[in-house]
Amino acid sequence: MSQHTTQTPRFRAFDERNFEQLSGFSNLNADDRFAIQVVSRVFPFRVNSYIADELIDWSHIPNDPMYQLTVPQPGMLSTEDFDKVADLLRQDAPPETLASTVLAIRTNLNPHPAGQVSLNVPQLSGDRLPGLQHKYRETVLFFPQAGQTCHAYCTFCFRWPQFLTDSEVRFSAPDSEGLVRYLGQHPEVTDLLFTGGDPLIMNARLFERYLNPVLNADPPMLETIRIGTKALSYWPYRFVTDPDADELLRLMERVVAGGRHLAIMAHFNHPREMAPPIVQEAIARIRNTGAQIRTQSPLVRHINDSTEVWRELWRKQVNLGLVPYYMFVERDTGASQYFRVPLARAWDIYRGAITSISGLGRTARGPSMSANPGKVEIQGIAWINGEKVFALRFIQGRNPDWVQRPFFAKYDPEAAWLTELKPAFGEKEFFFEQEMREIAAQAEHQYDEDEEEDQ
Ligand SMILES: *Cc1c(COP(=O)(O)O)cnc(C)c1O
Ligand code: SF4
Repeated sequence: MSQHTTQTPRFRAFDERNFEQLSGFSNLNADDRFAIQVVSRVFPFRVNSYIADELIDWSHIPNDPMYQLTVPQPGMLSTEDFDKVADLLRQDAPPETLASTVLAIRTNLNPHPAGQVSLNVPQLSGDRLPGLQHKYRETVLFFPQAGQTCHAYCTFCFRWPQFLTDSEVRFSAPDSEGLVRYLGQHPEVTDLLFTGGDPLIMNARLFERYLNPVLNADPPMLETIRIGTKALSYWPYRFVTDPDADELLRLMERVVAGGRHLAIMAHFNHPREMAPPIVQEAIARIRNTGAQIRTQSPLVRHINDSTEVWRELWRKQVNLGLVPYYMFVERDTGASQYFRVPLARAWDIYRGAITSISGLGRTARGPSMSANPGKVEIQGIAWINGEKVFALRFIQGRNPDWVQRPFFAKYDPEAAWLTELKPAFGEKEFFFEQEMREIAAQAEHQYDEDEEEDQ
């Protein structure tokens, strides 16, 4: 690889204990500082020096989207919850009192969205495989244990319980042995997705320890390996100047040389994240390995809820050779009251952006809800026989037969999630609901744990 004039700056992480050392700290007034203390008791908080120095525009806080993306905001808690925690902090309450209040608040914030029934964790000869999820026929998700954290934490992250220091990590595999055996017995699986957290938080050697057994076993039906990551946005040096950057790229080349499609599923929430030259260099280096970069993001209020932002996001991505893949609807968990965008507005933003860019960027699907029955896309708003409706379809379904069938919900300008929608035309329920109940009842017999993923 070529020599770089760029040096890797020192990676420094900040959280509620040391955020006074953030470069933009002087822009925060006493109320801002106290609010960060309060909200970060409930939601894990982590930001790094690159984000603080290169991405956040401190002269525009608190509205700056990168600030909203990474620093806890007072509106993320209800006034009531905020005051509860604030009072305890002001009174210097005993740690146990604070902890139990925080726990009660968290428990009310739907910490495990999209069906806590154990629908996705597969089994092998009767044993549950920790760190694997198999929800849709073709794709298995793999959560390597060493990849269950991130370079920084997005304020909207739906995996927030996984990042709490006092929570056991729910989905993580210590190695890939079970994965390899599972793939051997499931020839319907063509896609493997490494996910987290962020698997690229691992150094190359560690990542290779998870990947090698798969490459060596060479499952004949496995065509695609995806890696879901926010590293391009939060720590692009990962691919350019980190000590193991070249080693990581060699590993990617090996996957491609093995005849597989390697897709980096990059999370970009705002065009600003693609502006620094170091990101563009990282993108070029990844693409040089033969890997494809696809992109995805949820639509989040205060961060990217405008047509202009999405138009620019996708336009810039096409320009850099990235393939726009998904616009997600913000999930019904955590601070979703603060971040949610009604489905009707989400569709407007999607349509406004996608119709104003090159056809090459119209590969993005969405707005899509990763709900318990599957990924449901808003296809449009229509009048049918005098009734205003949402036209919907499954992009992925627990039952593959549900996929691509159009179905309709009553128009509701406020609804922001599948569970808030009612069937149109006086139907009692959606076509999949009976079957979904049966699937759930079956799974009750098995285990009681589940989480979902989007990459
Ligand atoms: C989105 C998703 C996938 C991948 O679906 P594609 O349509 O192949 O992108 C796989 N598993 C789960 C659980 C998902 O949420
Ligand atoms: S990159 Fe993904 S997993 Fe990590 S904090 Fe952000 S949303 Fe959560």
